[in-house]
Amino acid sequence: METGRCYGCKREFTFDPAEVETFLVDPETGLPPGLTVLASLRPATPEAVARSVDLPVCPDCIERAKRFQF
Ligand SMILES: [Zn+2]
Repeated sequence: METGRCYGCKREFTFDPAEVETFLVDPETGLPPGLTVLASLRPATPEAVARSVDLPVCPDCIERAKRFQF
């Protein structure tokens, strides 16, 4: 098991790296590549995708995301 900070709520939680849901985030904007701060979609540049990292998301946030069809 590993401990990390949830991308959604910033809470520390323990997860199994093989099972955890992750979220691809561009560290430059703190958002998924292709998503602007206004939450409008734009084409993701290859550069943005290349520098993006997978961040773990806790089960609470996954539940919330499903409910709102995030
Ligand atoms: Zn969370």
